[in-house]
Amino acid sequence: LRMESLLYKAIDANQFVLFYQPKTDVHTGEVKGVEALIRWNSPELGMVSPLEFIPIVERGGMMPQVTEWVIGEACRQLQQWQPLDLKNIRVAINASPVDLRDQNFAAKLLAQLGGYDIPTKSLEVEITETGVMENMKTAIKSLRELQENGVTLSLDDFGTGHSSLSHLNALPLNVLKIDGCFVRDIHINPSNEAIVRAIVAMANTAGLTILAEGVETAEELLVLRNLGVDEIQGFVVSRPLSAEDVTEFILTTNAEFEASRHNRKHGRVIDLLPRWLSARG
Ligand code: C2E
Ligand code: MG
Ligand code: MG
Repeated sequence: LRMESLLYKAIDANQFVLFYQPKTDVHTGEVKGVEALIRWNSPELGMVSPLEFIPIVERGGMMPQVTEWVIGEACRQLQQWQPLDLKNIRVAINASPVDLRDQNFAAKLLAQLGGYDIPTKSLEVEITETGVMENMKTAIKSLRELQENGVTLSLDDFGTGHSSLSHLNALPLNVLKIDGCFVRDIHINPSNEAIVRAIVAMANTAGLTILAEGVETAEELLVLRNLGVDEIQGFVVSRPLSAEDVTEFILTTNAEFEASRHNRKHGRVIDLLPRWLSARG
């Protein structure tokens, strides 16, 4: 209850902040996009994780305002990146199941996006299976509208929620994000390897880009690459970073990618691994 009452003031008091985690091409090491992850910097409670406060935001009816704040902040960041060498970077925001129940979610998002001088394709929306299944009809309508307007759609935490493969086929989607629990120790866990292999085969048939999240080690990364995963996200590449730090990270990483582009076709990720692993500490 205390958290809830403090949360009501958090937006106006400017206590939320977005961190950004890179999404990297598993072959070249190029940063393709980032995921925006919210943190609450509370004067009373310190830095609070979204795992703790998002459920309270949802229950307290504050999700629409928080999502609107996240979208606005992501758009401001994209706008700042346009004049730099970062105009092709996509920013993904997380939509809550509450957002997917809102008939006007897509219209509101597109209207907000229209207030900035950025292409629609720069924005990505991550949804969860559970969020969609709770209200298939409304969710699918919103997702179609977003996709028709060029917004990239990713299915987050894939494999952990309540979904059926037949429902999945009905969803407009661009990217499947394999949950970190299937990535963990994949180099020594045959059951995880079998699961990821099956997900990749299915996603390929559906024409989806496959991203593995929660990748922590070089061993996991190399197995995922061999299994046909396209992009990775996780501590092995970078933790979520402040806006300033992620800007620096992308500029440095993509400059290395550009410099090597003419010389080599593959194997770049191998060259970047030592830096990633040492940055991880
Ligand atoms: P998610 O969307 O699946 O985000 C990925 C989470 O995994 C993030 O946790 C990230 O910090 C963490 N992570 C990244 N790499 C690794 C890794 O290598 N190993 C491990 N163990 N974890 C890794 P975070 O930032 O605490 O966010 C937790 C969840 O909170 C998110 O899961 C998402 O569901 C939710 N969330 C975050 N920001 C927002 C937001 O703006 N709106 C909404 N509705 N939900 C959000
Ligand atoms: Mg996410
Ligand atoms: Mg996830």
